[in-house]
Amino acid sequence: MTDRNDALNLDRQDPLAPLRAEFTLRDGLIYLDGNSLGPMQTCVADRVRRCLETEWAQDLIASWNTADWYRLPQTVGAKIAPLIGAGADDVAVTDSTSVNLFKVLAAAVSMRPDRRVIVSERSNFPTDLYIAEGLAAFAGKGHELRLIDSADELDAAIDADVAAVMLTHVNYRTGEVHDMADVTRKAHAAGAVMVWDLAHSAGALSVDLAAADADFAIGCGYKYLNGGPGAPAFVYVAPRLQADVTQPLSGWFGHRAPFEMKPTFEAATTIHRFLTGTPPVLSLVALDAALDIWSRVSMDAVREKSVKLCEMFIERVEARCGTYGLSLASPRDASRRGSQVCFAHPDAFPIMQALIARGVVGDFRAPDILRFGFAPLYVRFVDVHDAVEHLREILETEVWRQDKFMVKSAVT
Ligand SMILES: *Cc1c(COP(=O)(O)O)cnc(C)c1O
Repeated sequence: MTDRNDALNLDRQDPLAPLRAEFTLRDGLIYLDGNSLGPMQTCVADRVRRCLETEWAQDLIASWNTADWYRLPQTVGAKIAPLIGAGADDVAVTDSTSVNLFKVLAAAVSMRPDRRVIVSERSNFPTDLYIAEGLAAFAGKGHELRLIDSADELDAAIDADVAAVMLTHVNYRTGEVHDMADVTRKAHAAGAVMVWDLAHSAGALSVDLAAADADFAIGCGYKYLNGGPGAPAFVYVAPRLQADVTQPLSGWFGHRAPFEMKPTFEAATTIHRFLTGTPPVLSLVALDAALDIWSRVSMDAVREKSVKLCEMFIERVEARCGTYGLSLASPRDASRRGSQVCFAHPDAFPIMQALIARGVVGDFRAPDILRFGFAPLYVRFVDVHDAVEHLREILETEVWRQDKFMVKSAVT
């Protein structure tokens, strides 16, 4: 088993190791929650400060042109594109993941007017299901959500009534990965439109939307992309669809020529038609700066380290904490897992609180999951080693039984 010296050696040999210094993580913090909120890079604070102090404070409205604020949804999208196998002009950054999902799902459903079913899975992230429910009700034509309980049920669920299949590529809780190309092929074979949520994929593992021939995709800016709290989200539309599909949030930023100020809507023929209103410039410049790091790393190197970190974590937890009632809730096979590892435990909530109190930050996901994200840009092998030792001490001493670790805040 990898001991602490082995872990330190792995860090010394790690080509990504120098990148950690670009993040503002304080000494002693073991941050295994970058899949929920990525940490900040120093360049992001500098970029936001420039936007505030020069572009806004001094140049004011001129900055829409002189600082290229107007094109940010597109230029930031072009930086995300290579991470998800998309063309530079096929991704826009705007609104939240939930709102973008509404837009693409509505577009998908409107492409199949004779069909009434949206297929997804019960274990999907709740907002995805809620948005689909809302859309189905709003469509007002008897649309329904058909939820499966495991990937094995997909074949049977995707029949001739299905308008759209909407799945999250990497499950937010277990980290289980769908085979994007295979599922997309099945959806298309049944005549359905395929929508992928890449919230836990972008920046975590290689994604190739174009090769899979996906129709639509959306994903978060604040998780592995480190764009900051509430960072705007991205939306991908296959180039073959951009000129024709319609989405209902037809605001002026989606107009062919917003500043002609015409009284009737005429959609842009590009990815722009998935924009709605004025974009959040401060958040966009933060994400813009946060994304620059990706041009200096290869996704292969990121994935290779991610797999090693996750495997070391599983190996050490099972060896060191195996007798305390934890059970692996993520796939054991690395090829079927994203960049996160989950263990189930009946007392997961207070155990996670006790870990956080010791500076090992993961998160709790109801009802019984301890979730740990391993973002290779800044997580070290020694962090994995030390996190497991903290976990072992917490379980062995049962400090997690203290009342203070039972208190639930609004956000867990
Ligand atoms: C994190 C996450 C979201 C978040 O949506 P917001 O609109 O940003 O709140 C949506 N879907 C999935 C699968 C997620 O993991």
